[in-house]
Amino acid sequence: MSHTAEIIAVGTELLLGNIVNTNARDISQALSAVGVNVFWHTVVGDNPQRLKEALTIARSRADILITTGGLGPTYDDLTKQTICEAFQKPLVLHEEIVEQLRVYFEKNVHMTMPENNIQQARLPEGCTVFDNPVGTAPGCAFESGGVHVLMLPGPPFEMLTMLRRCAVPYLRRLSSEVILSHDIMTFGLGESPMEQLLRGKMAGMENPTLATYAKPSEVRLRATAKAPTQAAAEALLSPVVAEISAFLGDVVYGVDVGSLEEVCFRLLKEREWTMATAESCTGGRIAQRITALPGASQVYRGGVVSYWTAVKAQVLGVPQTILDDSGAVSEAAARAMAEGARQVTGAEIAVSCTGVAGPDADERGVPVGIVYIGLATPEGTFCRACDFGKRRRDRIQDLSSNHAFDVLRRYLTGLPIAPKGLMGLRP
Ligand code: ATP
Ligand code: MG
Repeated sequence: MSHTAEIIAVGTELLLGNIVNTNARDISQALSAVGVNVFWHTVVGDNPQRLKEALTIARSRADILITTGGLGPTYDDLTKQTICEAFQKPLVLHEEIVEQLRVYFEKNVHMTMPENNIQQARLPEGCTVFDNPVGTAPGCAFESGGVHVLMLPGPPFEMLTMLRRCAVPYLRRLSSEVILSHDIMTFGLGESPMEQLLRGKMAGMENPTLATYAKPSEVRLRATAKAPTQAAAEALLSPVVAEISAFLGDVVYGVDVGSLEEVCFRLLKEREWTMATAESCTGGRIAQRITALPGASQVYRGGVVSYWTAVKAQVLGVPQTILDDSGAVSEAAARAMAEGARQVTGAEIAVSCTGVAGPDADERGVPVGIVYIGLATPEGTFCRACDFGKRRRDRIQDLSSNHAFDVLRRYLTGLPIAPKGLMGLRP
């Protein structure tokens, strides 16, 4: 049987707009991973009457209620008491929790536990206790008339810790099904062309299902299967993942991989190659993304942010004639920058980027959104010319660094650098 959940976030701060309901998002994500459908998010203030109304509605339409907030020791923390009244569960004092709280206060706060914290050791009769190793308020779960109620604390770090350690295992035991997903990562095909391509396939699919999540220039396709066991779910998924990947072709840069730069990092490591960067309009974003990966020093030698034309000439050795004749934003400059970075660092491969991020055209009249990605390799130098159109500066910088990694990935896997039909390419 599949379960239906409602998340009830308790806190007047949420209603006032002082804080964002990140707990609901995090709980929803965790529930989808264990196959529980979340159909409602409710937010209610620290008010027992309205919380009771919310509980009445929730239990009429969902069989899993998860609350966050209001488990603390202060007068406005009323979640537990109100839920117990609504479900007619007496609160029972847990001596072992009182003891844990005393120890927590002495060790972490260096003070004697205030008396009102004892309240936190009172929990609904017969409940499963959720320990809180990173705070004071324990959470709990109980079942009443076929409805499961789970109470989690409000502070996001405490909530997340308890969600992962206690609530998710509790929910897994309720469900006889395993939910498994694989992410097919693609670059350079927009979300609507992707949907159009896959519409026929997606419409008829029930198990596994296919969903698209788009970021600028990337689409993640998530295939999700439900089955009694992990192996059965995998058996449903793998043929679909293989079929879709083959259908989409080389826009797919990996399955269950984190990012384009991660793929490049792995490919470079396999070849035992190092790379370098020469960046103008991206201002170091390409270097930042590769160095964010643990172990980056195995593949990344270094880079130059050659923002000034003189730096392109003097540090990277871009010939003055190129800068004078073609300009700093040109295919010739991108190629020379990459070659210069390769030479200066001694890396096997170097990627470069020069373009106009805006808000205005450059002094030669090159419009906003024109970007060249250069790639210097042992086999010669390549270039991809992009036209992102007039967009926000940071978007153009992000797209440029994405394209730089895609150029690198394509070269390292033996694919054409600038295939027809790829989004963002200059026609
Ligand atoms: P405490 O013991 O700290 O009082 P609590 O379980 O009673 O914890 P609340 O008092 O409701 O929780 O909230 C504590 C803090 O946690 C809030 O000030 C807020 O910063 C954060 N918080 C509460 N609910 C949410 C939520 N739904 N999303 C994100 N943050 C939240
Ligand atoms: Mg509180």
